[in-house]
Amino acid sequence: MFSVFKKKNKNSKHRLLSLGIESTAHTLGIGIIDNSGKEYVNIKRQFKQEDTASGFKPFDAANFHYQNALPLLKDALTKANLKMKDIDVISFSKSPGLAPSLSVGATFARTLSIKYNKPIVGVNHCVAHLEIGKTLTGAKDPLFIFTSGANTQIIARNYNKYRVVGETLDMGLGNLLDTFARDLGYGFPGGPVLDKMYFESTNYIDLPYTVKGMDLAFSGLLTSAQKKIEKVKKEDLVYSFVHTAYAMVLEVCERALSYTKKKEIMVVGGVAASKALKSMLESFCKQRGVKMFLVPIAACMDNGLMIADLGLKEYIANGSNKLEETIINPTERVDQVIINF
Ligand code: AMP
Ligand code: MG
Repeated sequence: MFSVFKKKNKNSKHRLLSLGIESTAHTLGIGIIDNSGKEYVNIKRQFKQEDTASGFKPFDAANFHYQNALPLLKDALTKANLKMKDIDVISFSKSPGLAPSLSVGATFARTLSIKYNKPIVGVNHCVAHLEIGKTLTGAKDPLFIFTSGANTQIIARNYNKYRVVGETLDMGLGNLLDTFARDLGYGFPGGPVLDKMYFESTNYIDLPYTVKGMDLAFSGLLTSAQKKIEKVKKEDLVYSFVHTAYAMVLEVCERALSYTKKKEIMVVGGVAASKALKSMLESFCKQRGVKMFLVPIAACMDNGLMIADLGLKEYIANGSNKLEETIINPTERVDQVIINF
């Protein structure tokens, strides 16, 4: 019953449907996509810790996912007007993330695989963020700015792996924005609040700027901005803070473009929703003749559609996993995954 299902021909006219389950952290997502890149549904429920202003307890999030998995699946199938028998492969995020959350997704996917006798594929969440961008925008071989809460990496495909060519040495860009927004008295997530405020000033206040080769660090910027909160106009400080952080990212991109010779740039991850980043990146790309690709927001945030997409690509290239291979790996990096499609 659990033998590896045969490889599928990706050029086959036959429609293949993949159901993806995302559960690496506080988001439980389910998406369905087919082998032409058509989206059928992409919905999610997000755990929010009631008793703290920021952060959450991993086991509380896992319990939330257990409670919501079946209702969310029912909603997804109803919205897509599909039944489980229509699904060809079940994909889930097996890495990286919080072990309790990952375990719920893996267990749910295994249960569905056994109950409905469907092939199963576990995928890396970070690779999924990159691949859904390519599926939805048609970009061929971009330099990726992967920037979410915890991650900020500049990534490029090199043969059969995604290589991290530059990255933050301390915190992720999203966490930087959220932390500073909380210090200013705004709620979580603060990234969208600072993003709006960015356009309310053009008065630049000097702040620390830390780029080391192809890497960058944000803690000096954060500490210095925190110390200025009571001393300068909020709008000026936010504009300068956001501008400095994004300028650092773009400097690393400039070096990465020259190193990798890529002709396209794509932003993925939650901070890709930023209008400030978009406006700075637009002029950056124009000046350098590089094509810019932005991924629709629902596909940028943690979501099940990207898991369905990568699971389907891996299924077509390699077949499915044996059940005993469907173990989670909380620490797997994007550059540890072999890509053979
Ligand atoms: P992710 O970890 O990929 O789910 O992304 C979540 C992060 O994206 C959070 O840190 C948010 O503050 C950040 N974010 C969401 N929308 C925006 C925005 N419009 N501008 C800047 N950051 C944002
Ligand atoms: Mg993510």
